[in-house]
Amino acid sequence: MHSATKRIYMDHSATTPVDSRVVEAMAPYQAQAFGNPSSVHSWGQEAATALERARGVVANNLGCRTSEVVFTASGTEADNLAIRGIAWAGERRHLITTPVEHPAVSNTVQQLRNLFGFEVTLLPVDQYGRVDPDDVEQAIRPDTALVSVMAASNEVGTTQPITEISRVCREHGVPLHTDAVQAGGRAEISVDKLGVDSLALSAHKFYGPKGVGVLYVRRGLRLVPAITGGGQESEHRPGTVNVAGAVGLASALELTTSTQEEEVARLLSLRDRLIEGVLGEIPDVQLTGHPVERLPHHASFAFCGIEGASVVVALDLEGI
Ligand code: PLP
Repeated sequence: MHSATKRIYMDHSATTPVDSRVVEAMAPYQAQAFGNPSSVHSWGQEAATALERARGVVANNLGCRTSEVVFTASGTEADNLAIRGIAWAGERRHLITTPVEHPAVSNTVQQLRNLFGFEVTLLPVDQYGRVDPDDVEQAIRPDTALVSVMAASNEVGTTQPITEISRVCREHGVPLHTDAVQAGGRAEISVDKLGVDSLALSAHKFYGPKGVGVLYVRRGLRLVPAITGGGQESEHRPGTVNVAGAVGLASALELTTSTQEEEVARLLSLRDRLIEGVLGEIPDVQLTGHPVERLPHHASFAFCGIEGASVVVALDLEGI
């Protein structure tokens, strides 16, 4: 441990601390109200009520039906269930994605190619890592099963034109999945405005607990369960649901969305000050990611001649 007294945590894209109000909301569902929500007795029903309340909060935030909200064990799991589930649901054997996806998406698509014979098109991206919706249109084929484009990059912070991409996908009758894990809590996420068919979120990116995510599945979307088991979560994600986690995710989502406007304004000003400072003070540095179409709380730089890990270690020694 370094000797600096003040430590500054600046890795919220990796994970965030759990808000104390979220911890409080979750607490009863660890030890007291511990029932299995699938049990018909009162312990079970108490847990089921909390779970359904949490589902309602998420549905309200995403602008969807409660029946379209699937609790998962992570953002990774949500991406896996959507991509594999959609790919396996029909006869089409062509997938479209980008070269800038998180491994939760890229490795899932890669496995579908290597083990299941799918063909994969990687869309071109510009120097900021952004996809052009026209390129999506060019790439779609009659046998395209799925387009998967992340809402925002965890690495460089660039946001993608999901609404425009979804318009193209709709016109061609191809489902669109978006990994919105980095946008969760920081951008308005309305599944109808975005026009997506499925969407992944992860609680620990917005002051919720680790190990719980959400998969939004548009009504009518055909999805083969990539995990098999009991009938939980409309059979999309079998397994006893992490009730405390779901309650925590819902509480964190509500807290971040209810303060989103002020918080985004505060973060934007901090981010821009940081960008201005770094670009102004440090030689041979480049801002990566889109200058404008980027997450409000995200700044990413390339320092010429220094490896990223070395910068992290040096900053850590300074308490940052
Ligand atoms: N997708 C993106 C864009 C992410 O940034 C992350 C986490 O870093 C994930 C997916 C995976 O989420 P989880 O950590 O909940 O598995």
